[in-house]
Amino acid sequence: MTITPEREAELLASVPTGLLIDGEWRDASDGGTFDVHDPATGKVLATLASATSEDALAALDAADAAQGQWALTPARERSNILRRAFDLINERAEDFALLMTLEMGKPLAEARGEVTYGNEFLRWFSEEAVRDYGRYLTTPEGKNKILVQNKPVGPCLLITPWNFPLAMATRKVGPAIAAGCTMVLKPAKLTPLTSQLFAATLLEAGLPAGVLNVVSGKSASSISGPVMADPRLRKVSFTGSTPVGKRLLKDAADNVLRTSMELGGNAPFLVFDDADLDKAVEGAMAAKMRNMGEACTAANRFLVQDTVAEEFTRKFAEAMSSLTPGRGTEEASTVGPLIDSGARDDVHALVSDAVAAGAVAVTGGEPLAGDGYFYAPTVLGGVPNDAEILREEIFGPVAPVTTFSTEEEAIALANASEYGLASYLFTSDYARMFRVAEQIEFGMVGFNAGVISNAAAPFGGVKQSGLGREGGSEGIAEYSTVQYIGIADPYAK
Ligand code: NAP
Repeated sequence: MTITPEREAELLASVPTGLLIDGEWRDASDGGTFDVHDPATGKVLATLASATSEDALAALDAADAAQGQWALTPARERSNILRRAFDLINERAEDFALLMTLEMGKPLAEARGEVTYGNEFLRWFSEEAVRDYGRYLTTPEGKNKILVQNKPVGPCLLITPWNFPLAMATRKVGPAIAAGCTMVLKPAKLTPLTSQLFAATLLEAGLPAGVLNVVSGKSASSISGPVMADPRLRKVSFTGSTPVGKRLLKDAADNVLRTSMELGGNAPFLVFDDADLDKAVEGAMAAKMRNMGEACTAANRFLVQDTVAEEFTRKFAEAMSSLTPGRGTEEASTVGPLIDSGARDDVHALVSDAVAAGAVAVTGGEPLAGDGYFYAPTVLGGVPNDAEILREEIFGPVAPVTTFSTEEEAIALANASEYGLASYLFTSDYARMFRVAEQIEFGMVGFNAGVISNAAAPFGGVKQSGLGREGGSEGIAEYSTVQYIGIADPYAK
């Protein structure tokens, strides 16, 4: 389908531009606004209200006021709202996909994939909402009884990044609704439009006023700061970079807030000499190039057994050089722009540093000329093990390849990182799969698989990649707290 300028304008005009507070779309209290840009052209797409600290606290007032009634709302009703929202997003899948492509830059085919993936969190948590089991038991002494029930944590602050505008929101909002929490959502200022449309869809699906409040703005800390300092807030769930996550953890300590932290990654991609190399290249393309490499799960370090490194690198470089960079709205585009000029400069600095240290650009290695923030899909061979690019999260379409000779060395190299989010392992030996998975310090392992995200799976990391899990049955537990009721011996006279 050709995307015309009229279609883009019509969609953008349908997106609310205000702050969502207590079920109403409002202007900022000081009338302030900020612009959202198209990273493929640099042009302004929309102008949104920019929340002040006062607005952020008004959003928390609304969440706090709605919390009591929302906690008492039957789970089936909360479940039905999520399910209706899932159906509405499915009906409007093309709108959500195009909006993400416009504000974030990913090709339409990938944006459609994110609608399917992101929306699944609503269906999954609509199903989890009604399976909220407690327990009842007799004390070991055989007299008193123990009753354990789950309760919603209470009002939550949800902070999301720009790279997956729908999925990062549904992964938090879905389980919070299912568990009976109210919330203040603060989307990334680079890509807030999808959250605006998502919130409008939830209201249409019957979400009561005040349960979800959305406050985007120019200054993240002037939104999060006063909300986190307010004792009515009970939890903060953050997805973003490790430095910002650490800062929020320190702030959370002051009010002893529950926290979920989905932070940065530095995924190793291990290829053993017994792997099917064509499948490994296919997996490498998915693990590296999904979202132009701007994913916390993106393969960041390709560790390849020395005997197959040359063949793997050649085939990988061929696949990378066959990609077609272009604005995501063009159907031929298979790789979009990076999010902004700073992101592109950072990627190029890492590549230049690696080349200066002795790496060779087998393909790519340069920013692309013209509009937008495009970077050539790049494979670097012979990267020294101490190169900066192997320690930093690249967040771009660049694949550094390095080698190992034994399984022990591969595990040691993979674990040589302060991060521990996603990892990938390509081998035809199932015994090796178990050995490596047991010894590798990562929250997630893809075995002969380049894409592992799924609403039914517990997504999350260890070490400096974060705390807690999103998705699976673990996802709803992040928004529940346990209450124990001790019951006196019913036989006592
Ligand atoms: P970021 O700069 O940390 O921003 C993430 C969010 O935090 C945005 O909403 C941002 O608001 C807000 N923020 C920034 N500074 C803040 C502060 N001082 N106080 C409160 N909020 C603040 O990260 P990003 O560049 O958007 O996203 C990329 C990072 O996210 C990467 O490191 C990636 O690995 C990570 N990520 C992790 C996961 C995961 O599940 N583990 C998933 C996706 C991404 P503004 O937009 O206003 O700056």
